[in-house]
Amino acid sequence: MKRVFSGVQPTGNIHIGNYIGAIKQFVELQETMDCFFCVVDLHSITLPQNPEELHKHTLDVAALYMAVGIDPKKATIFVQSHVPAHSELNWLLVCNSYMGELSRMTQFKDKSSGKDAVPTGLFVYPTLMAADILLYDTHIVPVGSDQKQHLELTRDIAIRFNNRFGETFVVPDVKIKEVGARIMALDEPTKKMSKSAENPLSRISLLDPPAQIKKSIMKSTTDSDNEIRYDVENKPGISNLLTIYSLFSGLTVPEVEKKYHGAGYGTFKKDLVEVVTDSLTVIQDKFYAVRESEELRIVLKEGAAKANEIANETLSRAKKKLGFVML
Ligand code: ATP
Ligand code: MG
Repeated sequence: MKRVFSGVQPTGNIHIGNYIGAIKQFVELQETMDCFFCVVDLHSITLPQNPEELHKHTLDVAALYMAVGIDPKKATIFVQSHVPAHSELNWLLVCNSYMGELSRMTQFKDKSSGKDAVPTGLFVYPTLMAADILLYDTHIVPVGSDQKQHLELTRDIAIRFNNRFGETFVVPDVKIKEVGARIMALDEPTKKMSKSAENPLSRISLLDPPAQIKKSIMKSTTDSDNEIRYDVENKPGISNLLTIYSLFSGLTVPEVEKKYHGAGYGTFKKDLVEVVTDSLTVIQDKFYAVRESEELRIVLKEGAAKANEIANETLSRAKKKLGFVML
């Protein structure tokens, strides 16, 4: 059976971009593949985090995984810091990667730009991500398109290690959706929607109350010609809203365009509020039930045990290849 690995950072609550771009695929893949879905808390501290919020968001993201339909009987759900092998393999990979290739990563450039003091962890974020993936002999990594470059680097690191030390790691393939792989920010539709962006109206979190969803959509940036037409280059705002409408309603983008032919942005946005709110209410009801339950901690404990077993085997394999003495 093919192995799948992916993760979400607990830097905030999961937004509809994470959901549409990555997590919806997780729910489909768990039916036919051996899936590992991780809350990547070690990644979150590559930029400053409030400890109380990190703690809360870690449990929130795990509960949201379950609320959107990831079934712990079918997939392994766990927290990255519960599996020490991630940090240890990261070091082995840091020593087998280059400053040059890490400096070319656009996420590093974006997240470090304008900062006086750039944490070293932000620079080696991609080697930790490579460790996450390679530890599970992963075949497929479902992600949004912003992570494509990191996946290419993961493949390069795995191939290089295998060539230098002998066959050790499975070289993974990336899986990116054709539609929805890059949902844009609502306030600035030329930037991707992000958990860590300052303006909360730039995103719709899966846990936003109806009034907040309404505010974010109604205030979203669109052009002024009032024509509902998909044209990413000239009409990035309305094109983004069309994509969101399509993915939440099950209609194709041309079907949505047809439905709103001649209607103004106001009508379209109001209907979009309804479509999104209806879907998120279902998720939120499940979320609050899971988040309060004992089940959540049991799932994470069992997930960590299973993940540790596999990860430790891969880590030992890599350490032996490097020449470390194993007792
Ligand atoms: P942060 O701003 O803290 O980096 P994020 O919103 O980018 O948060 P991540 O936890 O880094 O979220 O990414 C989780 C998954 O969601 C990854 O697979 C990533 O590719 C995907 N993803 C992130 N943003 C988007 C987006 N705007 N559209 C589609 N997929 C996205
Ligand atoms: Mg991100």
